[in-house]
Amino acid sequence: MSLISDNLQAVRADIRRAALDCGRSEQQVRLLAVSKTFGADAVLEAAHAGQVAFGENYLQEAVDKITFIRQSAPELDLEWHFIGPIQSNKTRPIAEHFAWVHSVDREKIAQRLSEQRPADMPPLNICLQINISGESTKSGALPEDAVSLAKRIHALPGLRLRGLMAVPEPTNDEQQQRAAFRQLKQLNDEIVAQGIVLDTLSMGMSSDLHAAIAEGSTMVRIGTAIFGKRDYAK
Ligand SMILES: *Cc1c(COP(=O)(O)O)cnc(C)c1O
Repeated sequence: MSLISDNLQAVRADIRRAALDCGRSEQQVRLLAVSKTFGADAVLEAAHAGQVAFGENYLQEAVDKITFIRQSAPELDLEWHFIGPIQSNKTRPIAEHFAWVHSVDREKIAQRLSEQRPADMPPLNICLQINISGESTKSGALPEDAVSLAKRIHALPGLRLRGLMAVPEPTNDEQQQRAAFRQLKQLNDEIVAQGIVLDTLSMGMSSDLHAAIAEGSTMVRIGTAIFGKRDYAK
Protein backbone atom coordinates (compact mmCIF):
# COMPACT_ATOMS: atom_id res chain seq x y z
CA MET A 1 0.00 0.00 0.00
CA SER A 2 1.25 3.49 -0.74
CA LEU A 3 1.87 6.14 1.86
CA ILE A 4 -0.98 8.25 0.51
CA SER A 5 -3.47 5.42 0.81
CA ASP A 6 -2.24 4.68 4.35
CA ASN A 7 -2.67 8.36 5.22
CA LEU A 8 -6.15 8.44 3.71
CA GLN A 9 -7.17 5.48 5.82
CA ALA A 10 -5.79 7.16 8.94
CA VAL A 11 -7.64 10.42 8.16
CA ARG A 12 -10.88 8.55 7.55
CA ALA A 13 -10.39 6.81 10.90
CA ASP A 14 -9.82 10.21 12.57
CA ILE A 15 -13.05 11.51 11.03
CA ARG A 16 -14.93 8.43 12.25
CA ARG A 17 -13.53 8.83 15.78
CA ALA A 18 -14.27 12.57 15.92
CA ALA A 19 -17.82 11.96 14.70
CA LEU A 20 -18.44 9.16 17.19
CA ASP A 21 -16.99 11.28 20.03
CA CYS A 22 -19.78 13.81 19.54
CA GLY A 23 -22.58 11.46 18.63
CA ARG A 24 -22.53 12.15 14.91
CA SER A 25 -22.17 9.71 12.04
CA GLU A 26 -19.05 9.66 9.89
CA GLN A 27 -21.40 9.76 6.90
CA GLN A 28 -22.24 13.36 7.84
CA VAL A 29 -18.66 14.51 7.23
CA ARG A 30 -17.19 14.52 3.72
CA LEU A 31 -13.46 14.43 3.15
CA LEU A 32 -12.00 16.96 0.71
CA ALA A 33 -8.39 16.04 -0.13
CA VAL A 34 -6.42 19.27 -0.60
CA SER A 35 -3.87 18.48 -3.30
CA LYS A 36 -2.38 21.96 -3.86
CA THR A 37 1.37 21.87 -4.70
CA PHE A 38 1.17 18.08 -5.26
CA GLY A 39 1.26 16.63 -8.75
CA ALA A 40 -1.24 14.61 -10.73
CA ASP A 41 0.57 11.43 -9.62
CA ALA A 42 -0.39 12.12 -5.98
CA VAL A 43 -4.01 12.85 -6.95
CA LEU A 44 -4.18 9.63 -8.98
CA GLU A 45 -2.80 7.63 -6.05
CA ALA A 46 -5.46 9.07 -3.74
CA ALA A 47 -8.15 8.52 -6.39
CA HIS A 48 -7.17 4.88 -6.73
CA ALA A 49 -7.52 4.59 -2.94
CA GLY A 50 -11.14 5.71 -3.29
CA GLN A 51 -10.88 9.50 -2.83
CA VAL A 52 -13.24 11.47 -5.10
CA ALA A 53 -13.24 15.13 -3.97
CA PHE A 54 -10.07 17.23 -4.35
CA GLY A 55 -9.40 20.83 -3.30
CA GLU A 56 -7.07 23.25 -5.09
CA ASN A 57 -5.91 26.81 -4.27
CA TYR A 58 -3.87 27.97 -7.24
CA LEU A 59 -5.81 28.36 -10.46
CA GLN A 60 -3.19 27.68 -13.13
CA GLU A 61 -1.75 24.71 -11.27
CA ALA A 62 -5.24 23.35 -10.77
CA VAL A 63 -6.40 23.76 -14.37
CA ASP A 64 -3.23 22.05 -15.66
CA LYS A 65 -3.72 19.15 -13.22
CA ILE A 66 -7.45 18.77 -13.95
CA THR A 67 -6.88 18.84 -17.72
CA PHE A 68 -4.05 16.31 -17.52
CA ILE A 69 -6.04 13.91 -15.34
CA ARG A 70 -9.17 14.17 -17.52
CA GLN A 71 -7.05 13.21 -20.53
CA SER A 72 -4.89 10.53 -18.96
CA ALA A 73 -7.52 8.88 -16.73
CA PRO A 74 -10.91 9.67 -18.30
CA GLU A 75 -12.50 6.77 -16.38
CA LEU A 76 -12.04 8.69 -13.10
CA ASP A 77 -14.95 10.97 -12.25
CA LEU A 78 -13.26 13.30 -9.78
CA GLU A 79 -14.97 16.27 -8.12
CA TRP A 80 -12.85 19.44 -8.07
CA HIS A 81 -13.28 22.17 -5.44
CA PHE A 82 -11.64 25.60 -5.68
CA ILE A 83 -10.68 26.81 -2.18
CA GLY A 84 -8.15 29.59 -2.85
CA PRO A 85 -8.40 33.38 -3.11
CA ILE A 86 -10.22 34.51 -6.28
CA GLN A 87 -9.22 37.44 -8.50
CA SER A 88 -12.21 38.86 -10.34
CA ASN A 89 -10.48 38.61 -13.74
CA LYS A 90 -9.85 34.87 -13.17
CA THR A 91 -13.39 33.67 -12.57
CA ARG A 92 -14.03 32.11 -16.00
CA PRO A 93 -11.64 29.13 -15.71
CA ILE A 94 -13.03 28.51 -12.22
CA ALA A 95 -16.60 28.48 -13.55
CA GLU A 96 -15.55 26.11 -16.34
CA HIS A 97 -13.43 23.57 -14.47
CA PHE A 98 -14.79 23.16 -10.94
CA ALA A 99 -17.84 21.59 -9.31
CA TRP A 100 -17.55 23.65 -6.12
CA VAL A 101 -16.05 26.97 -4.99
CA HIS A 102 -15.54 27.46 -1.22
CA SER A 103 -13.88 30.88 -1.31
CA VAL A 104 -16.57 33.25 -2.57
CA ASP A 105 -16.47 36.34 -0.37
CA ARG A 106 -18.10 39.12 -2.41
CA GLU A 107 -21.08 39.58 -4.66
CA LYS A 108 -19.10 40.64 -7.72
CA ILE A 109 -17.23 37.32 -7.78
CA ALA A 110 -20.49 35.39 -7.36
CA GLN A 111 -22.15 37.31 -10.22
CA ARG A 112 -19.26 36.61 -12.56
CA LEU A 113 -19.16 32.91 -11.65
CA SER A 114 -22.91 32.68 -12.24
CA GLU A 115 -22.72 34.40 -15.64
CA GLN A 116 -19.69 32.38 -16.74
CA ARG A 117 -20.94 28.95 -15.65
CA PRO A 118 -21.37 27.00 -18.91
CA ALA A 119 -25.05 26.33 -19.67
CA ASP A 120 -24.45 22.60 -20.16
CA MET A 121 -23.02 22.17 -16.65
CA PRO A 122 -25.01 21.89 -13.41
CA PRO A 123 -25.05 25.01 -11.20
CA LEU A 124 -21.73 25.68 -9.48
CA ASN A 125 -21.88 24.72 -5.78
CA ILE A 126 -20.87 27.66 -3.59
CA CYS A 127 -19.69 28.17 -0.04
CA LEU A 128 -19.49 31.73 1.19
CA GLN A 129 -16.14 32.27 2.94
CA ILE A 130 -16.45 34.18 6.21
CA ASN A 131 -13.65 35.99 7.99
CA ILE A 132 -14.54 34.89 11.50
CA SER A 133 -12.84 36.76 14.30
CA GLY A 134 -9.10 36.43 14.44
CA GLU A 135 -8.77 35.02 10.96
CA SER A 136 -5.20 35.53 9.83
CA THR A 137 -5.84 35.77 6.08
CA LYS A 138 -7.58 38.79 4.61
CA SER A 139 -10.00 36.60 2.68
CA GLY A 140 -13.59 36.22 3.70
CA ALA A 141 -16.69 38.36 4.06
CA LEU A 142 -17.40 40.06 7.36
CA PRO A 143 -19.75 38.07 9.61
CA GLU A 144 -22.21 40.98 9.71
CA ASP A 145 -22.52 40.87 5.90
CA ALA A 146 -23.09 37.11 5.73
CA VAL A 147 -26.89 37.05 5.75
CA SER A 148 -27.40 39.71 3.05
CA LEU A 149 -24.64 38.24 0.87
CA ALA A 150 -26.14 34.77 1.22
CA LYS A 151 -29.53 36.09 0.07
CA ARG A 152 -28.03 37.72 -3.01
CA ILE A 153 -25.88 34.71 -3.94
CA HIS A 154 -28.83 32.38 -3.40
CA ALA A 155 -30.72 34.30 -6.12
CA LEU A 156 -28.07 33.80 -8.85
CA PRO A 157 -29.15 31.24 -11.48
CA GLY A 158 -25.75 29.71 -12.30
CA LEU A 159 -24.95 28.99 -8.67
CA ARG A 160 -26.23 26.78 -5.90
CA LEU A 161 -25.43 28.17 -2.46
CA ARG A 162 -24.53 25.21 -0.23
CA GLY A 163 -23.11 26.79 2.91
CA LEU A 164 -20.25 28.57 4.64
CA MET A 165 -16.50 28.13 4.84
CA ALA A 166 -13.83 29.55 7.16
CA VAL A 167 -10.10 29.24 7.85
CA PRO A 168 -9.69 30.29 11.51
CA GLU A 169 -6.43 31.59 12.96
CA PRO A 170 -4.26 28.53 13.70
CA THR A 171 -4.10 27.63 17.39
CA ASN A 172 -3.36 24.45 19.32
CA ASP A 173 -6.00 25.28 21.92
CA GLU A 174 -8.99 23.10 21.15
CA GLN A 175 -11.38 25.39 23.05
CA GLN A 176 -10.29 28.34 20.88
CA GLN A 177 -10.62 26.21 17.75
CA ARG A 178 -14.12 25.24 18.80
CA ALA A 179 -15.15 28.84 19.58
CA ALA A 180 -14.23 29.94 16.05
CA PHE A 181 -16.09 27.06 14.41
CA ARG A 182 -19.10 27.70 16.63
CA GLN A 183 -19.31 31.24 15.23
CA LEU A 184 -19.50 29.88 11.71
CA LYS A 185 -22.21 27.41 12.71
CA GLN A 186 -24.21 30.25 14.31
CA LEU A 187 -24.01 32.30 11.11
CA ASN A 188 -25.15 29.23 9.20
CA ASP A 189 -28.16 28.95 11.51
CA GLU A 190 -29.00 32.66 11.03
CA ILE A 191 -29.04 32.23 7.25
CA VAL A 192 -31.15 29.06 7.51
CA ALA A 193 -33.58 30.98 9.73
CA GLN A 194 -34.11 33.35 6.77
CA GLY A 195 -35.49 30.46 4.74
CA ILE A 196 -32.35 29.59 2.76
CA VAL A 197 -31.60 25.87 2.78
CA LEU A 198 -27.90 25.14 3.46
CA ASP A 199 -26.30 21.71 3.86
CA THR A 200 -22.57 22.42 4.04
CA LEU A 201 -20.24 23.71 6.72
CA SER A 202 -16.76 23.60 5.16
CA MET A 203 -14.53 23.76 8.22
CA GLY A 204 -11.60 21.83 9.66
CA MET A 205 -8.08 21.19 8.33
CA SER A 206 -5.34 18.70 9.30
CA SER A 207 -4.70 20.30 12.69
CA ASP A 208 -8.25 21.15 13.82
CA LEU A 209 -10.42 18.44 12.32
CA HIS A 210 -11.62 17.14 15.69
CA ALA A 211 -12.84 20.56 16.90
CA ALA A 212 -14.51 21.29 13.55
CA ILE A 213 -16.45 18.03 13.56
CA ALA A 214 -17.50 18.59 17.17
CA GLU A 215 -18.99 21.95 16.08
CA GLY A 216 -20.91 20.57 13.11
CA SER A 217 -18.52 20.47 10.15
CA THR A 218 -19.92 18.58 7.15
CA MET A 219 -16.77 18.85 5.04
CA VAL A 220 -13.17 18.82 6.26
CA ARG A 221 -10.42 20.07 3.94
CA ILE A 222 -7.32 17.97 4.58
CA GLY A 223 -3.97 18.44 2.83
CA THR A 224 -0.91 17.74 4.97
CA ALA A 225 -2.30 14.67 6.76
CA ILE A 226 -2.91 12.99 3.38
CA PHE A 227 -0.13 14.21 1.08
CA GLY A 228 2.56 15.31 3.56
CA LYS A 229 4.21 18.65 4.11
CA ARG A 230 4.00 21.12 1.24
CA ASP A 231 7.17 22.40 -0.42
CA TYR A 232 6.32 25.81 -1.88
CA ALA A 233 9.86 26.28 -3.25
CA LYS A 234 9.51 23.49 -5.81
C1 LIG B 1 -4.17 24.43 2.27
C2 LIG B 1 -5.56 24.52 2.73
C3 LIG B 1 -6.17 23.47 3.44
C4 LIG B 1 -5.44 22.20 3.87
O1 LIG B 1 -4.62 22.49 4.96
P1 LIG B 1 -3.81 21.35 5.76
O2 LIG B 1 -3.41 22.02 7.01
O3 LIG B 1 -2.65 20.97 4.90
O4 LIG B 1 -4.74 20.21 5.99
C5 LIG B 1 -7.51 23.60 3.77
N1 LIG B 1 -8.22 24.71 3.45
C6 LIG B 1 -7.67 25.73 2.78
C7 LIG B 1 -8.50 26.92 2.45
C8 LIG B 1 -6.33 25.68 2.41
O5 LIG B 1 -5.78 26.72 1.77
